[in-house]
Amino acid sequence: MPTATPSPIDFGPLNPMSDAALWTFWRALLEDLGVSLPLNPWILSQRLADYIGKDIDLEECSIPGAPGVGFGALIPFPDGYLIAYASDVSPSYKAYIVCHELTHIARGHPRNKEMLCGNFDEINREALQPGSGRYFSTWKEWEAETSAAILVELMHRRPLTDVEGSDLSESERLYARAIGGRAWRRSR
Ligand SMILES: [Zn+2]
Repeated sequence: MPTATPSPIDFGPLNPMSDAALWTFWRALLEDLGVSLPLNPWILSQRLADYIGKDIDLEECSIPGAPGVGFGALIPFPDGYLIAYASDVSPSYKAYIVCHELTHIARGHPRNKEMLCGNFDEINREALQPGSGRYFSTWKEWEAETSAAILVELMHRRPLTDVEGSDLSESERLYARAIGGRAWRRSR
């Protein structure tokens, strides 16, 4: 009988991360996945699927009667995940939604067949508590939104030069350091 390969992503007990910890998390994971900048969320999706040994299917769809509404949902299956996201929003908004859902997968958020993001219950606005029913209403949604912002930023970044190892002049090197040219170097 084949032995199951342990997932390289920690699916042990979950602890919420700060935004700084999420940066570190993605920096290390993108390097492990061999994903280079500028980030392409669709390539990230494929690499992440290979990495965890599960399918990640992406499907554009729309909500009848609600054109242009941005939404995403992550549906976990035993052998993979389905990410359903809005078809009738801008390409950049689609990328943002996909990054949000990929964070849920990469961080191992779905537990016990929990379905994240999608809330198909009718909202009772009278009973709504401040902050509830919004993206930031749970720490998992906060992480996914914060990560989506991080990953979208990386969609617009060029690969960083290894400031120390390059043949930059000293003044160029100082300037590169000052604007974060070393930011993408791994510390471990
Ligand atoms: Zn979510």
